[in-house]
Amino acid sequence: MKLRAAGYTDVGLVRSSNEDAYLVADPIFAVADGMGGHLAGEVASGTTIDTIREFASAIAKDDDPGAALVETARAANRAVYEKAAGDPSYTRMGTTLTAAIARDGRLSIAHVGDSRAYLFRKGKLEQLTQDHTLVAEYVRHGRMSEEEAKVHPSRSIITRALGVEPDIPIDTLTLGLQPGDRILLCSDGLYSMISDEEIAKILASTEDTEAVARQLVDAANQAGGEDNTTVIVIDVEQDEEGPENQAS
Ligand code: CA
Repeated sequence: MKLRAAGYTDVGLVRSSNEDAYLVADPIFAVADGMGGHLAGEVASGTTIDTIREFASAIAKDDDPGAALVETARAANRAVYEKAAGDPSYTRMGTTLTAAIARDGRLSIAHVGDSRAYLFRKGKLEQLTQDHTLVAEYVRHGRMSEEEAKVHPSRSIITRALGVEPDIPIDTLTLGLQPGDRILLCSDGLYSMISDEEIAKILASTEDTEAVARQLVDAANQAGGEDNTTVIVIDVEQDEEGPENQAS
């Protein structure tokens, strides 16, 4: 299995700083969307991405890379939490994290917050992660429709973030990859500005990994660019020497 990946971020048209951070370190990928006053959001997302970068080669070589990724997310949580505890200007800073490792034909994800991972397979877009937001929980419990959630004034309230508490639950999932799969990791700046239908349309428009990442961010900006937007697109390609991937 061979991967081709591209990441792209933009501050958008409204915010003065970019509190998103991302990592493309094949086979490890991560998006973090920080929150907190002044520079705190940038510190939270930056610390998290730095932690994953630091351990990336160890995660990639681990017998259980999915578990190693989760352990690293826990380490990032502690690093952000300790920074926040040590500096009053960082009080209650936090960040989302959606991180993935692709190895041995499988994708393992560690996830906290409202950034997302999607799978685009055979023209169909599927959200892999659950948003840790108040409105998403209402939808899951049948107290609100998805349509209501999309426009609800409290839709950006996050119920779980990295760095706010000393220990937090981290969602994990693993799926088998197929040649032709396209994985999308993104911050909420993308899906709050354009619909899943528009995202799918753009993902289907070109095989060029780099171009499609840019087009997604451009589309969010054309729709208003109200938030920082970050995307990582990961294309799974047939390995020339990989007979194990011949079956479709
Ligand atoms: Ca955001």
